[in-house]
Amino acid sequence: MLIIVIVVVIGSLALAGVFNRHTPPAPEPVVVGPVAPVVTVAIDPGHGGRDPGGVVGDVLEKNVNLEIANRLAELVDAQPGMKAVLTRTTDVSVDNQLRLQLAEGAGAVLYLSVHVNSYDDPSVNGAETLVDDTRTKDGPSWKLAESVQNALVAATGARDRGVRQQGLYLQHTKLPAVSAEVGFLTSTEEGPKLLDPAYQEKIAQGLLQGIIDYLHATGELKQEV
Ligand SMILES: [Zn+2]
Repeated sequence: MLIIVIVVVIGSLALAGVFNRHTPPAPEPVVVGPVAPVVTVAIDPGHGGRDPGGVVGDVLEKNVNLEIANRLAELVDAQPGMKAVLTRTTDVSVDNQLRLQLAEGAGAVLYLSVHVNSYDDPSVNGAETLVDDTRTKDGPSWKLAESVQNALVAATGARDRGVRQQGLYLQHTKLPAVSAEVGFLTSTEEGPKLLDPAYQEKIAQGLLQGIIDYLHATGELKQEV
């Protein structure tokens, strides 16, 4: 009984602020987690507007590129610490130089152009990643291309046509820049798959993984433990 009385008395004193008379309660500190820097990546749906890219029947490359790029941008935005900037979000013509400027202006750390390939021979299929031929093999664009190519092939099971060099408008940016040719629209086998939403999602997953692998390797994106 005595204990209960003591507890009640102490409790009342505490409520009355007796124990805090000289130290008013400090306001609750606002708890803020460590602010992780957001890594912005530029995703470029190739062609658009007046430029359809490859045309196979009534299928236009520009539209397939946009579908895959939009999926990829959604996946990027869902990643902690990552943000996507698209060079176009609708069927509009965008000058290639302007695409690069948009990416640089947005503070992107890399540039990934998304394309589907075309060729005369319908038996030709597979995925390849292009790098501008002014870029050195030990440089960031090649490393990005290798990451993207490996992850793309792993995610889709597409034939691995490897990383290839070409003279590209990508030479006009200082950003690590590559162009993923994710499959052949002209292939009797691969063409229809490129229009399939489930396969497009696999492509987007592969491209995302390639970007993440590259950013982990450069340390620009913190590796999850
Ligand atoms: Zn193209």
